[in-house]
Amino acid sequence: MKRTHDGTRPSAGRNAFRTTAWLAALMILLFWHGLPACAAQTHATAEAQPRHGAEIDDGPYVDIEGKQLVARWICDDQLIRVQRPIGRSTTVIRPRCAYPDAIRILADDTTPQPEIVTGVARIAVLSDIHGQFDLAVRLLQANGVIDANRRWSYGRGHLVVVGDCFDRGPRVTEVLWLLYGLQQQARKAGGDIHILLGNHEMMTLSGDLRYINEKYTQVASRMASSYPALYSANSVLGRWLRRLPTIVKINDMLFVHGGISPEHLDLGMPLEDVNATYRSALGLGRDQLKADPVLAALHDHKRSPIWYRGYFEDDTLTSERIDAILERLDVRRIVVGHTSMQRIESRFSGRVIAVDTSIKKGIRGELLFIEHGTLQRGSLQGERLPLGD
Ligand code: ZN
Repeated sequence: MKRTHDGTRPSAGRNAFRTTAWLAALMILLFWHGLPACAAQTHATAEAQPRHGAEIDDGPYVDIEGKQLVARWICDDQLIRVQRPIGRSTTVIRPRCAYPDAIRILADDTTPQPEIVTGVARIAVLSDIHGQFDLAVRLLQANGVIDANRRWSYGRGHLVVVGDCFDRGPRVTEVLWLLYGLQQQARKAGGDIHILLGNHEMMTLSGDLRYINEKYTQVASRMASSYPALYSANSVLGRWLRRLPTIVKINDMLFVHGGISPEHLDLGMPLEDVNATYRSALGLGRDQLKADPVLAALHDHKRSPIWYRGYFEDDTLTSERIDAILERLDVRRIVVGHTSMQRIESRFSGRVIAVDTSIKKGIRGELLFIEHGTLQRGSLQGERLPLGD
């Protein structure tokens, strides 16, 4: 038997009054909670801005199905599906929620991703974004790489993203579409963006989901898919990811996620072969990677280019040994992410530059600028700071 606050039994009349009051309260609650679900329906036609709340917003995931592009979002927990015929040169996908800008999808996206580039006067470097879209945008905006509308504003400069866009953070989809769009804009302006594959790209697409944000487990389940299948070779981003390099050489510098170990050099693989092998392995399962000796070496957690931490942990690596590595690669320095630092750091008197500035925590981070031969750190406030030695 229910009791009132003072512990007495309620009378029949008071009971009826309470039932009516509860019903009224329930109606009000249903009315308010029903609103976001309605909003999800209406913003299918409006260019909605991303909203933050308990409900999941994510997307789009765009699949190529014959002559159609099928874009899917989860907006306020509701699945939205839009189908568009593939245009002759581009197809535009308008925003619904999550990624806030219109996406131009190229019909024939076979522009080569260059692996060796020379004569670049201005280079900006960003690394280990790990789904921290908002922080990456702030950093790029503060330093004039993109403008207030998130469009390319670095002219003929080149941006290098040294791997690990996936895992940990909650806005991986947005990071990938941002870079996808910026790459087109940069190329039009005479610049470029080099997005390198890191160990987290390889892990996620191979089905190792230990580090994905919990949000993406729910997204995959609502889309009746596995998370890696959202980046299949039939998806726009999946195809794009399968064409990215793992190592690029720009001017006299090598950019790679983990680093180049002496053991990796012993494999004797030219840079183009290393990139092609990683590309072909993206999406293979762990067992397949282990079964092939070359693939196993390229995914070794200690010595492979995407996992190596020797420049930070191996006491036997002297400047002379680093010089020997640089000489074999025919570069003056190596720029690496993967090993998290408080700020961009120069090691071995500038032979190695470490650019993973812990953006994954979502609080702060830095860009490296290499402009006309001078190295500087770009802060979240847009200051250019000395690198030190
Ligand atoms: Zn990494």
